[in-house]
Amino acid sequence: MKLISYGIGTDPERKITTYKFETCGKVIMLDCGGDQLTPSDVSDVDYLFISHEHLDHWQALVRLITYLKNDCVVYTTQTTKKIMAEMVRQMLTYEKSGAVKTAEVINRFDNIQTLFFFSEHKLEGDLRVTLYPSGHTFGSSMIYLVSPELKLLYTGDMDFVEGKDYRKYYCPELLEVDVIIMDGTNFLGNDFKTQFINKKAGAVKHINHITFHVRPEKAVFLAQKLSEIRCLADHVIIYENDLNWYLRIISEQGYNAYALNKIVLDNHFMTPREIPKTIRLSSRKYEKFNVDWSFGLHISKDDIVAFAHQFKSFPKIYLGHYWLNDQEKYLEACRNYDFQLLKEGVNAL
Ligand SMILES: [Zn+2]
Repeated sequence: MKLISYGIGTDPERKITTYKFETCGKVIMLDCGGDQLTPSDVSDVDYLFISHEHLDHWQALVRLITYLKNDCVVYTTQTTKKIMAEMVRQMLTYEKSGAVKTAEVINRFDNIQTLFFFSEHKLEGDLRVTLYPSGHTFGSSMIYLVSPELKLLYTGDMDFVEGKDYRKYYCPELLEVDVIIMDGTNFLGNDFKTQFINKKAGAVKHINHITFHVRPEKAVFLAQKLSEIRCLADHVIIYENDLNWYLRIISEQGYNAYALNKIVLDNHFMTPREIPKTIRLSSRKYEKFNVDWSFGLHISKDDIVAFAHQFKSFPKIYLGHYWLNDQEKYLEACRNYDFQLLKEGVNAL
């Protein structure tokens, strides 16, 4: 089987993700993040799955959704759909793409189909799909596709945080899987992500009023992570009002954005003078930010190994969407654990 990978992380600026393959005579696309995707890359797709709301997994769809066939079906979870639809509306408000085109794009996004976790859905014939929580962000999913020739699990970005139900991937250990494509892999060391965040936090801890520039869809997890960092324990974390729409959607979907009471919504009655130390999270463009932080939430080496070995029989494992700042180290780790590294272009599975 041939799998085409677009925009694998060969450099840190291009960690964008799309995969495409054919099974049962149907063309399936997993995520739609690749900047370099063209209309002809998507015009033959029968089923498109979006794993979660982060732009590196679907930003090309804003430009390309009207080039999908009319009978192409796009699937995601309800939470992800709602967040995407709102982001698209906000993006197109600022673009001069023309009212007709804008309405068409919004309409196509509103027509995205939603699936529930754990509930198998028949696409057609012997082709079936089930979504499982990937633990990465609110409503993020792994996509399990079953056809007579292949049982494939695409993880999307995934995460596992001890003690946090909304930050745990979950898929049944008895799942029969031939091939896994694992995204968001920092295969560089144990808990690389936490070390990275702590390093950043250490660099700003002496600042009383810290402003983080962060995209709305990443702010909540950033806040929750920051609230656990000991050297920032005295800081109150404030969501600015521009993040309200995101907080509204996830709370409607049953998620709690205020997991700890040191996280508060922006409140005009509360000035910085009244709170001695604050961390302010905002997506607005201020002239000066203390920290402009591209915040990754990706699974680390120990989690990858644990995940890969949970299945009854060891599937073929392909790592994608990786941060390749040390290719040799990465390849060596892959050899040691019997994982394969996906490359941009055509891969034979
Ligand atoms: Zn992500």
